Amino acid sequence: TVSHGTQRLAILGSTGSIGGSTLDVVARHPDRFTVTALTAHRSIDRLYDQCLAFRPALVVVGEAADAARLEQKLRAAHLDTEVTYGADALCAVASSQECDTVVAAIVGAAGLPSSLAAARAGKKILLANKEALVMSGALFMRTVVEHGATLLPLDSEHNAIFQCLGTCLKSGAGVERLILTASGGPFLTRALDSLDEVTPDQACAHPNWVMGRKISVDSATMMNKALETIEAHWLFNMPAERIEVVIHPQSVIHSMVAYADQSVLAQLGNPDMRTPIAHALAYPERIDSGVAPLDLTRMANLSFAAPDLSRFPCLRLGLEVLRDGCAASVTLNAANEIAVEAFLQGQIRFTAIAQVVEEALHRLPPLAAHHQLEDIFAADAAARAMAQQIIRHLPAFGAQRVAVH
Ligand code: NAD
Ligand code: MG
Repeated sequence: TVSHGTQRLAILGSTGSIGGSTLDVVARHPDRFTVTALTAHRSIDRLYDQCLAFRPALVVVGEAADAARLEQKLRAAHLDTEVTYGADALCAVASSQECDTVVAAIVGAAGLPSSLAAARAGKKILLANKEALVMSGALFMRTVVEHGATLLPLDSEHNAIFQCLGTCLKSGAGVERLILTASGGPFLTRALDSLDEVTPDQACAHPNWVMGRKISVDSATMMNKALETIEAHWLFNMPAERIEVVIHPQSVIHSMVAYADQSVLAQLGNPDMRTPIAHALAYPERIDSGVAPLDLTRMANLSFAAPDLSRFPCLRLGLEVLRDGCAASVTLNAANEIAVEAFLQGQIRFTAIAQVVEEALHRLPPLAAHHQLEDIFAADAAARAMAQQIIRHLPAFGAQRVAVH
């Protein structure tokens, strides 16, 4: 039955790229949605502006000092928004009686506890935080089922597949394979021997999407697609050999499903996250997203190619982890998070990201089956420490530069 009255939303990571796009869609439908909670890590000013516009009852920030500063600003504006802080407060928001739907849009492993808390509380979860599923797939999906939660993917590829699966979503009957499209990012055709020299800003300049910096670097290395194949494996209960990645630089087809009869269904649209967000927010209904209509006549062509795994070693590593049963996916994700941050801080080369991840995968044992959240975070911490150690032993960035010339 369609519930009347408004859908009450808690948006975790509201100051990010996905968070902002979500609020853009929400603002178009004041009759449908009420924002009950917003959270941010450090972007206090942005969060303050969102409080003025959306009037949530509660906000969560990272640290006490920021909470105090934000509270002061809110009171000066005569808002009585409750302000809390810290990781436990995020979990409390995600499982609160005050919301129906949780938008999980925190980046990285930091989003896992709150995403899982939402699942445990049986919420409707709009999941952008793919790292959570990569880290905890089996546990997460089991929790969703056990607690009657509803999991809707915001990631554009997975949202596309969700739409293309239609009535086959639950049983998977007749589904032959999932085809994830990948733009190939900013370095799809760049001379291979120049990848050593690319800067963080170049890596973050994605040709089709404007996103947070971590996922932008992941798109440039194609680690993003690696994480997404693992995400698809868990979301749709699909074995590795039936998940395919195809390069499609225009990002118009967001992904496809191939059926036993060789029908292939695709979902198309302009590359704008507000489409999958609006889809998931209103599901099973359809609402305006604010996205411009797709004009097919203005598209010169749609092209496709197999990914070059020697150009994109991070994709190769991710596909290997998936093929080997995902036991190393916590290490893959954690080492990548550390390496990407080091690259963004100017500490390592772009090409060292894959080296750090590969080395960490070599050195650490995979996680045993049937693990719990504590085991996952222990493996996560070990992989982070290992990645830091590997980075410390890399030849100094300056020395590498000298070696190149
Ligand atoms: P972003 O960096 O723009 O925003 C991240 C949000 O998380 C911010 O609100 C930030 O305050 C919060 N945050 C960061 N670290 C935190 C921490 N330690 N604790 C609590 N909150 C923290 O990132 P984004 O691009 O919006 O991506 C968010 C998630 O969505 C990622 O998992 C990403 O892979 C996924 N995703 C993003 C896009 C996109 O178009 N941006 C598309 C598909 C999937
Ligand atoms: Mg995606």
